[in-house]
Amino acid sequence: MEQKQSFIPAKKHIALVAHDGKKQAMVNWCANHTAILSRHSLCATGTTGNLIEAKTGLEVTKLLSGPMGGDQQLGAQIAEQNVNMLIFFWDPLSSQPHDPDVKALLRLAAVWNIPVACNEATADMLLTSSYMGSELLRQQPDYDQYLSNRIT
Ligand code: PGA
Repeated sequence: MEQKQSFIPAKKHIALVAHDGKKQAMVNWCANHTAILSRHSLCATGTTGNLIEAKTGLEVTKLLSGPMGGDQQLGAQIAEQNVNMLIFFWDPLSSQPHDPDVKALLRLAAVWNIPVACNEATADMLLTSSYMGSELLRQQPDYDQYLSNRIT
């Protein structure tokens, strides 16, 4: 599929997800970065979002819990371009009942070319990027072009 350029806005719509073994790390990370995170809009899978709100006071839109469909909800939001950055502390040391959903979420993040961090070090680098305060030009699939080529 051809690509087109679009902007990720200065105010990012950030999704936060942490597997159980990584929830404390996520809460700590959010607590360390409340000043930056509070300038953006945040959403999260259910349990992660509830913990972040309770422990940091950040405002978070909470979806269903991951194993109950929250990861799929997030994937849909990425495809609809309502979410344009993903911080996903997945746990590489335990298996997850919703592994297919996790894979699907990461796949859609790659399809739509949004910034993704899967561990704290990368999340730190993303959050301290100058692009957190400005627009980011990125390539994304040009589905309208694809469709018009198929019809004509
Ligand atoms: P949770 O979901 O925040 O509801 O625990 C995260 C996940 O495991 O995908």
